Parts: sequence; structure tokens; C-alpha cells
Amino acid sequence: MERQHVGLSELLGTEFRCDCGRSHDLTVRRFVYDAAAIDRLPDIVRQCAGHCVRAVVVADSRTWEVCGRRVLAALKRTYEDTREVIIADGEFGSPICDDATFQTLLARLREAKPEVLVAVGSGVVNDLCKWASFELGMPYLVVATAASMNGYAAANVAATIAGVKVLLEARPPVAVIAEPQTIAGAPHEMIQAGFGDTIAKHQSNTDWWMNHRLFGEYYCDFCAGIVSELEPLYLDRPEEIKEGDASAVEGLFAALFWSGVAMTLVGTSAPASGGEHLLSHTLDMIASVRRHRHDLHGRQVGVGTILSAALYERILAIEGPEFCAMPAQIDAGFWSGGAVAEAVAGQYEAKRGAWDAARRHLADRHAWDRLRAELAERSRRPQTIRRWLERAGGATGAADIGCSKEQLRGAVLHMHEIRKRFTVVDLAWMVGVLPDATDEILEQWLSC
Ligand SMILES: [Zn+2]
Ligand SMILES: [Zn+2]
Repeated sequence: MERQHVGLSELLGTEFRCDCGRSHDLTVRRFVYDAAAIDRLPDIVRQCAGHCVRAVVVADSRTWEVCGRRVLAALKRTYEDTREVIIADGEFGSPICDDATFQTLLARLREAKPEVLVAVGSGVVNDLCKWASFELGMPYLVVATAASMNGYAAANVAATIAGVKVLLEARPPVAVIAEPQTIAGAPHEMIQAGFGDTIAKHQSNTDWWMNHRLFGEYYCDFCAGIVSELEPLYLDRPEEIKEGDASAVEGLFAALFWSGVAMTLVGTSAPASGGEHLLSHTLDMIASVRRHRHDLHGRQVGVGTILSAALYERILAIEGPEFCAMPAQIDAGFWSGGAVAEAVAGQYEAKRGAWDAARRHLADRHAWDRLRAELAERSRRPQTIRRWLERAGGATGAADIGCSKEQLRGAVLHMHEIRKRFTVVDLAWMVGVLPDATDEILEQWLSC
């Protein structure tokens, strides 16, 4: 199929050749946003998962009440042997996507012997099911309960393994299903989180482009362009999204779904999360090490997106920077030593080659001038991001996400340690914006 002749929906369940030189395979076959979507589930399962007799519905205690029970009843009409598995809550309320929770879920699923999984939930439940279905080699569908993140159609799982937040490659669901009344009726914070996670994609694409330019990493204009095409769906109406207007929330949900598709099409986790996501992952890891709560992924990512834009703005203002060597080691004490510090150090050391290569590349003044111009075109201004978040009622600063100035400062100064991938945060360290301007940025942009 020639992709330029079809709309996005027609790409579902197809493989198509792209101008980037690759073939993209979209294994998500259906996207259903319909008031009677759950009643239609047996048909959707049959179409997307083929012949099977036993499904297992996976939910947590809240999503079970929201629509899990109805999902089970609808499936039982066709698949009599369908049963449910409820994931237990973590220490601070909702379940978490970590190795221990995953192993417990896997053991219960092995007992239930399903042929298809139906996840009912949003971030964590979807990720745990994606991970389990990949491990068990069976398809899964997701019945979404909130417009809170863009991972529904993505292939990756954001998991915490041995205390470190990592992205695992798995497979996307065969179908994403949602009922408008559930999505628009979800708590406001979840909708704000979805808005934060979606606006992040523009900045993560900028980081992706930088990796393309510095290291010759694969880049696809078509996949990156999907994100820009979706922007009017949510950027044109943040106030209506804040108020939970049905058609505005539908637009946001579509943007979340398709930006997940864009990540899947690329086929690697490369463009899935840039520097802006590192702030959220770092806050999650600190919360796990210090045993306290953290805010929703997308709300933290929104704040991280302001930070990414503020870093780019300062970096790109420098005409002839000195490109420093990578600091010798991580601050193990910040991670409380032990296994977490060791794993962080492993990620950090794995970045050294890329850092050195970037320095060599940028030593040529023309290379810096060109990269600077290209990144300036691709990055947003921090005030633009902050204004959108304010209009949508989202989190914009430390207090909004339950952080003290010191906690946020700690995260900003250590977020580059947790991933081997090169991002705007590393570039900021390389040219001295970090740590030198940390306090100014916190004060100016992150309400500290
Ligand atoms: Zn492509
Ligand atoms: Zn995200």
C-alpha cells in the first residue's frame, strides 16, 4: 500500500513502504472509540485475535469497577470460560509496573491459561498486560479507562526493574477500545496527564533529530510528522479539554493513540522518550528509593517538557560553546548506593561513547552552527509549553507535582545519569548550561 494515498486509519493492520526507505508494520488492527464499544468486544476479539476460547480480563480494583465488570460480562456471552485477574495495589495506592508485580501477574495468568488478554485500565495495567502478553506469546487488547498517556498503541513497556526505570521492547495490542463516557468521566488529573504526555512528543522528536544528526541514527519524517499533524486536535482547545468537553477529550484521546502508533511504526524505543521524559522517570525512581509517592507520569512529563524547552533555549543561545568531557562518574550517594546506583552507573557509562562522538562531531564550528539552526527550528519555547499546560489546567511546576525545590533540583541534576540515550540534558551538561544555570531555570520556569 502506498501510504501517501491513505488516511491514518487505513494504516491499521497493514504493512507499508515509506519514504524513509523502510517498511512499517502496524500490528494494531482496530481503534474503536464508541459508546457501545464494550458490547462489541466479542466481535472485536474475534476479528483481531482469531479463534480462541479463553480470555482473561486484567484490571486493578478501580478499573474493575469503572468497566472491568462490564467487560467480563460482555466477553462471557461468547467466551464462557473468561475470568478476571485483579492486580493488587502497591504501597501507595495504585499498582506499579515493576518486576515483582509482573511476576505475580504472570504466575496467575499461567494458572488461568488464557489465549487472549484483555487489559482494562490505563498506564500501569496496559503496560503490565503488554509485557505479559509478550512473555506468554499471545495477543492482547486494551479497553482504555483514561486519556492519561500515549502508551496504548506503543510497543514499549515502561517498567521498573531492580529499582531502575527502563523501556522494554514488547508488542502493541491488536486493538485499542474506549467508550467516550468513561474517558471524559475519568478524573481531571488523568486528562491533564494525557495532555502533558502528548505535548512532550514534539520535544522528544527534537531529541530524536539531534541523535540523527550527531550519530546518524535512523529518522523517519513520516513518523515524526504524525505528531505534528495531530497537534490541532488538542493544542487548539486546551480550555475545553480542561473542562472535560466530550469532543475535545475525544481529540486528545485520538492524539494519544496516534502518537503511540507513531512510536510503534518506528519500531524501536528511540523516539519514544527524550530528555523531557527523564525528569518523570527520575522522579519515579527517587520516590521508589526514598519510599514516597509520585505524581502521574504525564503530569510530571509536562513539567519535564517545559524544562526540555528551557534547556534548548539556553543551549541554542550559545554561539561558540566549549564542549566539555563527560563527568567521570555518577553521584552514587544520590541513588542511596547499592543495586540502583550500580544500575544507573551502568546506563551512564554506556553513554560515554556517544558523548565522545558528539564532542568530536561538534568540534567543527560549522557542525555546531548547522545543528543549532536545525534544533532552534524544531524546539518549542518554554513559555509556549507552559502556557498550553496552564490553559489545560495541567501541572507546570514543582509544587503542582508534590516536589520541594530541593527534590526537583536533585532530579534535574541527576536525570541524565539514568539512561544511556543522548538527550538535550546531556547537551546541556556538555556546554555548561547544567549545572551552572540550574537555579535560574528552576526559578524562571519551574516555579521554584
Ligand atoms: Zn518511515
Ligand atoms: Zn510518556
